[in-house]
Amino acid sequence: MSRLTLSSPLSGWSAPLDEAPDAVFAQRMLGDGVLIDPTGNELLAPCDGEVVSIAASHHAIAVRAANGAEILLHVGIDTVALAGKGFELHVAAGTKVRKGDRLLTFDLALLAREATSLVTPVIVTNGDRFEIVSAQTGCEVAAGDALLEIQPLAGTAAKQAKAEAERVSEKIRVEHEHGIHARPAALIANFAKALPFDLEVIANGRSANPRSAVALMSLGIRGGDEIVVAASGAEGAAAIAEVRRLIHSLEGPNPAKAKPAEIRPIGAVSAPTDPSRIKGVIASRGLAIGAAFYLREAEIAVVEAGAGVAHESAELERARGEVRQRLQALAKEAAATAKEIITAHLEFVDDWELVAAARRSIAHGKSAAFSWRRAVRDSADALKALGDPRIAERVDDLLDLERQVLVALLGQTPTTQIEIPDRAVILAEDLKPSQFVSLDARKLAGICLAAGGPTSHVSILAAAVGVPTLVAAGPAVLGIEDGTALILDTEQGVLRVAPDQGELASAERTIAARRQRQSAERSAAQNLCRTADGKRIEVFANLGSLGEATHAVAQGAEGCGLLRTEFLFLEREQAPDEREQLRRYQEIADALTGRPLIIRTLDIGGDKPIPYLPLPAEENPALGLRGIRTSLWQPDLLRVQLRAVLQVQPAGQCRVLLPMITDVAEVRIVRKLIDEIRRELGITTTLQVGAMIETPASAAIADQIAREVDFFSIGTNDLTQYTLAMDRGHADLAARIDALHPAVLRLIAMTAEAGARHNRLVAMCGGLASDPAAVPVLLGLGLTELSVVPSIIPQLKHLISRLTLDACRSLAQRALAQESSEAVRSLLAETSNELKVAL
Ligand code: PEP
Ligand code: MG
Repeated sequence: MSRLTLSSPLSGWSAPLDEAPDAVFAQRMLGDGVLIDPTGNELLAPCDGEVVSIAASHHAIAVRAANGAEILLHVGIDTVALAGKGFELHVAAGTKVRKGDRLLTFDLALLAREATSLVTPVIVTNGDRFEIVSAQTGCEVAAGDALLEIQPLAGTAAKQAKAEAERVSEKIRVEHEHGIHARPAALIANFAKALPFDLEVIANGRSANPRSAVALMSLGIRGGDEIVVAASGAEGAAAIAEVRRLIHSLEGPNPAKAKPAEIRPIGAVSAPTDPSRIKGVIASRGLAIGAAFYLREAEIAVVEAGAGVAHESAELERARGEVRQRLQALAKEAAATAKEIITAHLEFVDDWELVAAARRSIAHGKSAAFSWRRAVRDSADALKALGDPRIAERVDDLLDLERQVLVALLGQTPTTQIEIPDRAVILAEDLKPSQFVSLDARKLAGICLAAGGPTSHVSILAAAVGVPTLVAAGPAVLGIEDGTALILDTEQGVLRVAPDQGELASAERTIAARRQRQSAERSAAQNLCRTADGKRIEVFANLGSLGEATHAVAQGAEGCGLLRTEFLFLEREQAPDEREQLRRYQEIADALTGRPLIIRTLDIGGDKPIPYLPLPAEENPALGLRGIRTSLWQPDLLRVQLRAVLQVQPAGQCRVLLPMITDVAEVRIVRKLIDEIRRELGITTTLQVGAMIETPASAAIADQIAREVDFFSIGTNDLTQYTLAMDRGHADLAARIDALHPAVLRLIAMTAEAGARHNRLVAMCGGLASDPAAVPVLLGLGLTELSVVPSIIPQLKHLISRLTLDACRSLAQRALAQESSEAVRSLLAETSNELKVAL
């Protein structure tokens, strides 16, 4: 590995960089190097190379050596303020120089009087590629003396040979149908960043350091690709195994799922035909009538020249910090879909490669805004060039983040609300997620974009809130005048421009009929739920945040049957304390206005690690320390959580639910702990305790567990995985992991019987409860509480109101006798209409 000796550009005293009177240099934000306190007034080239940039105020020059190393020579500290006074340039950007050539002469006396300091940092700015092997510091140097020895980063020959000898690698097949796009890349980058060593991912003949989500995405890894992950040593092997697990944990193709939106390559939609009927790709289904409102967003102007490296670096840090803070606050309260998107944006703010590229550009005298934009646009172009429409859609997110950081850099107020007219159909070239959330939802009728894609984050957000959206409709969209009447039919994928009165009236009738049905369901959803023959069935919501609680109540939730408290514990440095937990639980209890709140104790471990809880490495995490086992292994964590739950007011609104119970002893220990805490806090009211039935063991001994608890809640997600011995995240098995498998149904039946015998309420909070096809069977098996995803509540309540228990019971018996989940599903499909009583 060839070394390069850099000679001193100045005569003077050489000192370590730590002594720089400026944190940006001392903390090596721009890279490693040394300081020269000059005695001479001539700055010379430290090596053969090319002048790659000169600061507008001439105080800093960067030279690129033939091997690619970039060396920044920054004369004095805060010398940008001199605006060129006292500097005389002898080269221009692009000049080829030889070691020792004169670059700059400066007025030493003037600088000594007017600058904060004369010390001149000599920095290798691309420290991601080069390392300093030796430096002459603590001594007098003459201009031209050897100062620094650098070499490409692979390390010394011996270190490299050792790394080579210990190199481990593994081929991994990416099954995830969308390949490694933003969210998987963010997941892997998040893991890789925490490692004290580097990993390498090789795919499609290129390699990337997965600490950078952007670098990883730019490899263009698609579903079905085989990649190589490499590292060094035993720790490296363990890290590779974790990357394999992360990749395999990605959601895979699942034919059992709802049919995805039609996907066609961007721009491949419409041969320009009738301009009054524009075709596009369906991103969110529905029908809307409204007036065109063209959303234009002016490009933010940025100045290229920086006001000094120190100033611009600090500005970039400040702006990224502001954006990070805002996104973290948003993520806390966001619903699940939006949260995932915000998390991917957060990953980009700190993306290793983006930030390094921006810092390099700043070191070359550019402004923070210019540097950030250039770094983002370069990455965006690289992603677009892959020609993969799904990856290209992620460019939206990058550009969105570019804008957010620029807004913060320029001190503008982030847009929180974009004014739009009533019943607006938004037309735009493309829409960024942050713009979408700034639109007034009450006035928004629909969205039609010239570009974009059906799996872009805007499309996901629009679908989550049911806004009809058409994307990739082509440039014809941009020619429509503001205020033009439109019918946006995203069932058919057509934007009808300036329809006649007859068409408008017919679309109005269809919308009205649909609204009537949904609003009938929604308003009836506020009634307590009963079957047609009067049996009370509680329909609760599964929640993971305060925002979801408010939404669930509006949807008609009668309580919360499962609060997944993991949301409070993940993505932070230490566990939330008792006060914080109490505050967050109380907020949710208040949002439920007296309705029951069932708080599940922390279900952490296994596939959901938390940094401050160092769990032992496990061969098979799903069968290791999870749920209640982790809590009993770390009882202090459980104690704090139970203390918080017990103090929520009014007493009695909360119940506690224990995950992953496998035997009665676990329940007894927790009950003892609760009694202890009640005594400590002087609480006399009792706390109802429930067991999740989500292991075959707990279903088999449900009669024993029933004696120890107040209620059961069946978790079909885990119960199915453990009963069928199929990993719930396994892409290839996804279509077969069906909770309607007769084996799972029989365990549900056993649990329900045990509950009935011991007079215990039997609820279900697993995913099966949110499946309308399964609901008649669940009622027939004896369940009286369903805890479901909030958006389905109105539909389920309406369905239940049309069922009778007798019909459900006989259907359940027939389902138990089937031989496969497919057979159960066919039976349910055949009987679904005859089962419902007429209203
Ligand atoms: C379940 O396993 O069904 C359940 C509700 O718990 P989770 O999905 O949080 O593991
Ligand atoms: Mg579970």
